[in-house]
Amino acid sequence: MRALPLRIRLTAWYFLVLCIAFGAFSLLAFFEVRGSIHSAVDEGLRDREAEIQELLEQHLPGEQIKRELMAGSRVRGEDDILQLADTRGEWSYSSASAVRYSLTFPTQTNSNEKFRVSTIYSKGMPLRILTGQIHAADQVYEVQIAAPMDDFYDAVNRFRLVLLFSVPILLLIASAGGYWLSKKAVAPVTEIARAAQLISERELSRRLPNPQTGDELQTLSEALNEMFGRLERAFKRVTQFTADASHELRTPVALMRTRTEVALRKQRSEAEYRETLFRIHQELERTSALIENLMTLARADSGSEPLQVAPINLNAILLEIWEPASLLAEGKSIQYDQRLPEMPVCVSGNPPSLRRLFLILIDNAVKYTSREGRISVVLNANDGAAVIEIRDTGVGIAPTDIPHIFERFYRADESRSRESGGTGLGLAIAKWITEAHQGKISVVSKVGEGSVFRVQMPLAE
Ligand code: ADP
Repeated sequence: MRALPLRIRLTAWYFLVLCIAFGAFSLLAFFEVRGSIHSAVDEGLRDREAEIQELLEQHLPGEQIKRELMAGSRVRGEDDILQLADTRGEWSYSSASAVRYSLTFPTQTNSNEKFRVSTIYSKGMPLRILTGQIHAADQVYEVQIAAPMDDFYDAVNRFRLVLLFSVPILLLIASAGGYWLSKKAVAPVTEIARAAQLISERELSRRLPNPQTGDELQTLSEALNEMFGRLERAFKRVTQFTADASHELRTPVALMRTRTEVALRKQRSEAEYRETLFRIHQELERTSALIENLMTLARADSGSEPLQVAPINLNAILLEIWEPASLLAEGKSIQYDQRLPEMPVCVSGNPPSLRRLFLILIDNAVKYTSREGRISVVLNANDGAAVIEIRDTGVGIAPTDIPHIFERFYRADESRSRESGGTGLGLAIAKWITEAHQGKISVVSKVGEGSVFRVQMPLAE
């Protein structure tokens, strides 16, 4: 059943439900019609019995009762099937029709019941027959009144035939309608599936048809289109990242190749070889930093290694980086200071990542601040958040660059950044680390005056 197409399965279920419904309806209708006919006929029999009771209560002699009954039979004709007997055995009356159908009084009557109505067949004729005793004028009479049921049963049988023929035809028509409806209902799904098959990695911008029907199918195609949108963005990010990464790696490799080719072109002095090796070593260092950064971002993208966090004191982290940070600043005669509060500021964090985050920001501050400048790191806690600010008196960032500096490989000033060993990945990593700590990173900057990078993260409970 499961392997069959949905429209066939739907139709099969529909057919089954209809069979049960039509079957139940037919049985109910048939028995209801037959029951109604029986009640109507039984009522006629009881009326006749009441008439006879009335007659018997007139205290007439037996012969006169018989004459009255005979007169009644003449008026009623063939349909008057009646037998009446005086239980003292003095007289009895049988209408001509009663004789024809050889009615006989039952040998045993159920004394609890005054009258019993049943259906019997006599000489091929179905008869509805009332049997019982009438107590009238201090006497007991036995009575049998019957009504022929052939016409009624013919009508009931005709009704049964109509049901037997029409129900299967109706079932067939309804199932064909059900098949058509389910085919129509499933058609958009087939169309969506066909359109989805056409969306390949080369055509990720394609979207599924979005029928404005306001039903589940619209919801389905919208959900799928949103998913394709997310996939497209993720795919573009990956291809962009790969292209940018290869581009970044090509430059230092090309530089090293040129340097070695130039050096090998003729015999050089030891000093010249040393100089070349020194330059190549510098490039190699830059390249390994770049590879290290690329790997960090690739791991961040895959989400395979979520950061292990524990409650930590930010004061301690900043004290730990004091030495490398001031060494960096010292190299450019930049004044470096840290202002930490007395109270510990605790966040739930990953110490190596946080150290890396602050060092990226301090390293940038050093890179983009000229000699004799000043860098200060300030830690505060307010409104349930730890706030770390890295302020510098450097070159600042143009307002047009600010929205992009956290993007991968974005450099506001290409030549200056490259010159100072920048890979354009530092702030992207800083942003990822901050967000992995449920924090936010922002910058306020003025060209020529300096920048303030602010990292905010929720305080630990
Ligand atoms: P890079 O390796 O080039 O420094 P980043 O991602 O760390 O890459 O920074 C992106 C760009 O943002 C840099 O190229 C630089 O132009 C700008 N930038 C970052 N920090 C500062 C800062 N403290 N002062 C001025 N400009 C900055």
